[in-house]
Amino acid sequence: MSELSGKIAVVTGGGRGIGRASALALAQEGAAVAITGRNQTVLDAVRDEIMANGGTAFAITCDVADPAAVSTAFETIRTTLGPITILVNNAGITASIKFTDMDVETWEHIMRVNASGPFFCCKAVVPDMLAQQWGRIINIASIAALYGLPYSSAYSASKHALLGLTRSLALELVRANITANAICPGWVETDMLQEAVANIAEKTGRTAEEARASLLSQAHQQRVVTPDEVAAVIVRLTSPTNTNTNGEAITIA
Ligand code: NAP
Repeated sequence: MSELSGKIAVVTGGGRGIGRASALALAQEGAAVAITGRNQTVLDAVRDEIMANGGTAFAITCDVADPAAVSTAFETIRTTLGPITILVNNAGITASIKFTDMDVETWEHIMRVNASGPFFCCKAVVPDMLAQQWGRIINIASIAALYGLPYSSAYSASKHALLGLTRSLALELVRANITANAICPGWVETDMLQEAVANIAEKTGRTAEEARASLLSQAHQQRVVTPDEVAAVIVRLTSPTNTNTNGEAITIA
């Protein structure tokens, strides 16, 4: 029997990038996986891929910035698949903006999606986890949760907030066998990286290759991480045998 057999997982932003890789990996381990995001077509494609591999999946749209939408979508997932005991808070956005150009709307939107969104999703699943006396919360933060990045004040502040939420939940829930951990990737090969490269190239007049090289110069391993590498850490953190890793910020860079 697979390690996550019988477990129900939700991956937010599961239609592409790190979320897609995580959904596929959790399904491979036997979990039934609900994939959420704002685009039903891309979610359906991941659901179909999981089911073609013999797994169980459910795709439903949900904007994590909207608490009512989160509540409705998670209730539908619960009714369709069962009590949710694995949550991957992956949905996230960024914007490269000089602090002097940062407006209130952009600041609040980034904070809402990256920090409040995971709070809304945790509120929706923690009662299930408490009832089951078992749960795994994995928050996809960033190296920007550990130190500030220039032109990323809102992103960095939101990821620091997500790490703070992770650490509090870890202490509050551990006696119910619920762990909460954050993963802090450096640059990962997804649309977010492509957009950052295009943005730097546009603003600085550099070629895409030069822009990519400037981002990579910050990477610890001097290379881009793959979504599958992040997914492998997520799977490790969800393992029922992994009871001691709690409240950690795991860097992959
Ligand atoms: P991505 O390809 O841009 O994926 C972002 C995902 O978030 C998409 O599935 C998107 O789905 C979803 N999303 C965005 N806003 C949403 C909202 N309001 N409600 C629901 N879903 C929403 O980028 P990625 O790299 O895979 O990003 C995943 C996570 O990793 C993010 O939290 C990001 O901050 C973090 N991260 C990425 C990197 C990197 O270098 N790529 C590094 C460190 C951390 P829809 O647009 O279809 O709704």
